[in-house]
Amino acid sequence: MSSHLIHLLIEARQAGLDLVRGPEGKLIVRGPRTAGSLVRRVLDRKDHILHGYVDFYSGKAGCLNWRTAAVSERAKCCVLCGRWSILRDPIENRPMHKVCAENSIRPTRQEAT
Ligand SMILES: [Zn+2]
Repeated sequence: MSSHLIHLLIEARQAGLDLVRGPEGKLIVRGPRTAGSLVRRVLDRKDHILHGYVDFYSGKAGCLNWRTAAVSERAKCCVLCGRWSILRDPIENRPMHKVCAENSIRPTRQEAT
């Protein structure tokens, strides 16, 4: 069980959790009752999820907004694919390709409707 945000979102996707931005800007999490502890971990990170991920996760945005992501002079291994990356995710500053992040939490076609 990773404490890193992208892995938490991957777990949420695999568990079938719906994460959406509610009408008042709050994070709404829906899912099976058995996912209670995962839901609590998601809610613990709600500020980061609302800031950087929920609109893509929910299918509202077509891509992640990584305008504030840093580009390092030193490549490190992407935490998702293991290949060299100079890009860092904008929230935790970990080496990660944007396309890897998107592919790992992208909604399925049915979920995006
Ligand atoms: Zn990658």
